[in-house]
Amino acid sequence: MSRIPLRYKMTLLYSALSALALTALLFSLYLVVRRSLVQHMEDLLSLSYTQLAAHTEVKDRRFIVEEDDELVLPPGMAYRVTDPQGLLLAEFQMSIPLANEPFQAGEAREVIAGTERWLVQDGLRTQDGLSAHIRVCLPLESIQWTLLTIRLAGLIAGPLVLLISAFGGLLVTRRSLRPIDRIIAATKAVAKGDLSKRIAPSASKDEVGALTRMINEMLDRVQESFQREKRFTADASHELRTPVSVILAYAESLAQEIPREGDAMKSVQAILLESARMQRIIAQLLTITRGEGTNYSMELAAADICEIARSVSEQMEPAARERGIALSVETAFGGTVTGDQSLLTQMMINLVDNAIRYGKDGGRIDISVAGTKDGLCRIVVADNGIGIAARHLPHIFERFYRADPARDRAGTGLGLSIVSWIVHMHGGTIEARSEEGAGCVFVITLRA
Ligand code: ADP
Repeated sequence: MSRIPLRYKMTLLYSALSALALTALLFSLYLVVRRSLVQHMEDLLSLSYTQLAAHTEVKDRRFIVEEDDELVLPPGMAYRVTDPQGLLLAEFQMSIPLANEPFQAGEAREVIAGTERWLVQDGLRTQDGLSAHIRVCLPLESIQWTLLTIRLAGLIAGPLVLLISAFGGLLVTRRSLRPIDRIIAATKAVAKGDLSKRIAPSASKDEVGALTRMINEMLDRVQESFQREKRFTADASHELRTPVSVILAYAESLAQEIPREGDAMKSVQAILLESARMQRIIAQLLTITRGEGTNYSMELAAADICEIARSVSEQMEPAARERGIALSVETAFGGTVTGDQSLLTQMMINLVDNAIRYGKDGGRIDISVAGTKDGLCRIVVADNGIGIAARHLPHIFERFYRADPARDRAGTGLGLSIVSWIVHMHGGTIEARSEEGAGCVFVITLRA
């Protein structure tokens, strides 16, 4: 039941209630009509009884029925007059089963005689010390037909009315729930990261209209505070850039002047390492905040991705050599990628930089750029370094996520989130495969 869409649930509930109300209405209507028809027959029977009793007189010490012109009885009527011992005095259209019914003086009652339903009234007539049993009967056949017709009409019209009202109900609920669909679509887009998405406002002043306005207002506020926070990060990074560069410059010149061995050099080197790390964090934060700006526009051009791979490899070669890592580049892709040259370069730098930092001394890094069968460009950066444990793999593209800060390699936890953002901006895909201790393979596909 919980999986059924709301519009069907509401229609179902509404139809069930309508069915209940309609059944109750038809049933009580049927009972009222039946009661009034039977009442009418009872009145007719009582009148006929009075007439027949008036024409039943004692003559020559026995009752006889004077069937003259004044005795006008309704069509289909049957009667029978007997003495208390059951001796027949007069009879008209009386069937045997009806005659055999036990005598019960009093109100009219319904009797089933044979296959027919009758209204029967018995009465005792006494005169001159004699008495007679009078029975008058009216067939209920005519009202039976009327009631059957009402029942049939109810059976046909009831479901028809129900069907029409269910269909109408479905249309109405669909119409009134349409704004909810719009709300769901908009909140899905917001959840995916598009904070600028708003729900198309509805003119209606009902609850859904109010909800739409409230959600839009809430999103305005969320977007505002998000942008404020982003502005703050960008400003702070910007402001921190100069002091960190100054610290780095002073520490570098200090390192030239103090003895190579000793505690002072250790401290200066720690300052150098941490300021270099801070400088990278600041640069990466600036890239991220720049990228998250709502009006960020890429400088699209036909980028020679093979050339980018080669130049990044050349640029990173000294750092790789320092750790005895062999860097190889294989370019078997003849086309170009439509993208932002500087972003694509940044992407390659981050991947190769990671491969060096998390690589083994004396290890190797293989970069390859090739075309795929379905016309895409595949970039692979593989190393044989320390690798990533399976439990960390799903999170490495998250901001500030560092698989294992203990095995610190001057990381910031931002590099891969920038790579993933760049790939996403280019409409591509990125995948990381790794086994702890057996290196890492990053595979990126971009539209050629
Ligand atoms: P960091 O600046 O810490 O390297 P990244 O976002 O670039 O941040 O990477 C996130 C985490 O993924 C790193 O902390 C590291 O543990 C892991 N990682 C990334 N690249 C590699 C790699 N080539 N080999 C092993 N681990 C890697």
